Amino acid sequence: NDPIERGSRAVYDGDIASVLITEQQINDKVGELAKQIDEDYGDLAGGDLVLVGVLKGAVMVMTDLARALPRPAQLEFMAVSSYGSSTSSSGVVRILKDLDRDIAGKHVLVVEDIIDSGLTLSWLLRNLAARDPASVEVCTLLRKPDAVRVEVPVRYVGFDIPNEFVVGYGLDFAERYRDLPYIGSLDPKVYTSGT
Ligand code: 5GP
Ligand code: MG
Ligand code: MG
Repeated sequence: NDPIERGSRAVYDGDIASVLITEQQINDKVGELAKQIDEDYGDLAGGDLVLVGVLKGAVMVMTDLARALPRPAQLEFMAVSSYGSSTSSSGVVRILKDLDRDIAGKHVLVVEDIIDSGLTLSWLLRNLAARDPASVEVCTLLRKPDAVRVEVPVRYVGFDIPNEFVVGYGLDFAERYRDLPYIGSLDPKVYTSGT
């Protein structure tokens, strides 16, 4: 079985200043995280683990993590909008799409693409905790330096990255680049040229 062949993303090439994390590195890391998570949870009372992915950025890591996990997990998605500019968030959050199911008594693992200020996540954790789950933990693929200053318990972190604006593997700028298979830092010319 050959892996699915990736389409060419040459059209993006000039916009990416450098590749920060390759597809292979992401793949290896997601595999490690999945193994660690599976060990940590052990035998679960209360049924399957519930993965809660935050749309749209977490969609790639969510699907890869779910497939790498050696145990069954249910996939739930939430969409929230944090008021703010396209490159930073304010912590004021509105739910655009809520979970489809009740999580009372469930073990919930929030899956995030990136934590920067942590404001969105801290709001989300308060919101989820109010629904009486058995537990809530967080797994994020990427974490920026500012995130360590926030009181948000993040149990699983893929990569700590420098304070650059990154795109790819779910992360966008103006809805583009989510479909890149790797994580790259966006050339500042892209967001200063006003497209
Ligand atoms: P926080 O509330 O932690 O500051 O922001 C988290 C959200 O901001 C992420 O889910 C993402 O949408 C956006 N974000 C923060 N840093 C970056 C980045 O470097 N690149 C992209 N594409 N989005 C980012
Ligand atoms: Mg996110
Ligand atoms: Mg975005």
